Amino acid sequence: MPSSNVQRDSDTLRPLESQINMLTSLIERKKAGGRFPAALEASYQSFRLRQFFSVDLRVIMSGLLVFVVFGWADFSFGGAQSVMLFSIRVLIAVLLMLAIIWIPRSRFAPYSLYALVVGVYICFLSVLWNIYIVDLPWGYFYHLGMIPMQVFALLGLRSNYRAMFSCSLAMLLSYTAFIVLLPGPAELTEVNRLAMAMAPYYILFWAILVIMASYLSYTIESGTRTDFIKNRLLALEADRLQYLGRRLQQLSTTDSLTGIANRRHAETQLSEEWRRCLRSNEPLAALMVDVDLFKAYNDQYGHQQGDSCLRSIAQKMAEFCRRPGDVCARYGGEEFVIVLPETTLNQAEELAQELCESIAGLNIPHAGSPHSVATVSVGVAAEIPRAGDNYEGLLKRADMALYQAKGNGRNQVKRQSVTSS
Ligand code: GH3
Ligand code: MG
Ligand code: MG
Repeated sequence: MPSSNVQRDSDTLRPLESQINMLTSLIERKKAGGRFPAALEASYQSFRLRQFFSVDLRVIMSGLLVFVVFGWADFSFGGAQSVMLFSIRVLIAVLLMLAIIWIPRSRFAPYSLYALVVGVYICFLSVLWNIYIVDLPWGYFYHLGMIPMQVFALLGLRSNYRAMFSCSLAMLLSYTAFIVLLPGPAELTEVNRLAMAMAPYYILFWAILVIMASYLSYTIESGTRTDFIKNRLLALEADRLQYLGRRLQQLSTTDSLTGIANRRHAETQLSEEWRRCLRSNEPLAALMVDVDLFKAYNDQYGHQQGDSCLRSIAQKMAEFCRRPGDVCARYGGEEFVIVLPETTLNQAEELAQELCESIAGLNIPHAGSPHSVATVSVGVAAEIPRAGDNYEGLLKRADMALYQAKGNGRNQVKRQSVTSS
């Protein structure tokens, strides 16, 4: 029994501890900010996805609303095309909003991040298209629209620097290619010349913005990952402590040889049941059980065999504790106690008799005994607790009864009722 406990402890604690060690070493080696080993990475991604749905989607919805609000530019600069430009803008925003509502509920939920990258890129393309459609010089205003697009990408993808960097780079490169391939203005007015001179600087500043935004999102992602590891570590430590606490409680109340309750637990229970029976005016019974001629048993069969005999007897005795408040404990050496709340002296005596017979019925050979098998003697006492008394008197009477059973030839039950005071 104890060895199976050791096995159970090791089965429970070893995986917990190896996870704790792995996470601690990630933190110590300052690797908590980067990609994790596969299994851990998968659980981080699912944690991120939950966070994404609960927090980030609101940010993205707000971004799309801002995108619609920028429609004022369509009316200010779009001229004859303004209604068409605004309608397309609203259509894109509405479709993306519907996608945002639908994707988390669909089987594509795990791909939400990619969907977001695509969504941002679609918004960006629509602004590029506006640049293409709207006549100069008003079309230049749409170039400025790239700045809120970049900020939108940063906000929406801030916790995944790879996605954030890829999306921003794709936008920047597409924009650069677009500018290079776009046919120049029909006439080189002062404004057009100025805009063309500014274009490389605009792209340069945007590139700097992408680098800074990527660094920022890298920092945010590292922080999120480190927090994830630390929270997980705390949860694992809590599990470990909870298990150890339970085991400690178990060890402090269990007898290591027999696996049944120990004397400390018996006394705690006795005192509790005593008070309970005092309140409910019910009888409390105690059985003191002592193995007969056990010294002779040890002398004949050796101490180890003696231990094994005690275990068999303890297990059999434990079967007699059938109700929730019943306790069977090793009181010390080859002596046991059984506590039976709400049990009268007659009922306890009957049970003790049954117990005595079934221990003899185990047929554990004992050459030194007149019965040739291991037997026990039992002293029984019971009483309705009275205020001012305590359980020690009850145990003492059970012990005196046991003494009588021993004196009377062993392998028997003796009872002692409460003496009137
Ligand atoms: P009685 O019938 O009068 O109770 O005789 P007894 O021999 O059982 O009583 P005694 O008190 O003389 O001896 C008790 C023996 O129980 C002595 C001791 O070696 C043995 N014993 C006590 N604890 C253990 C234990 O944990 N393991 C083993 N193997 N023996 C134990
Ligand atoms: Mg004995
Ligand atoms: Mg004894």
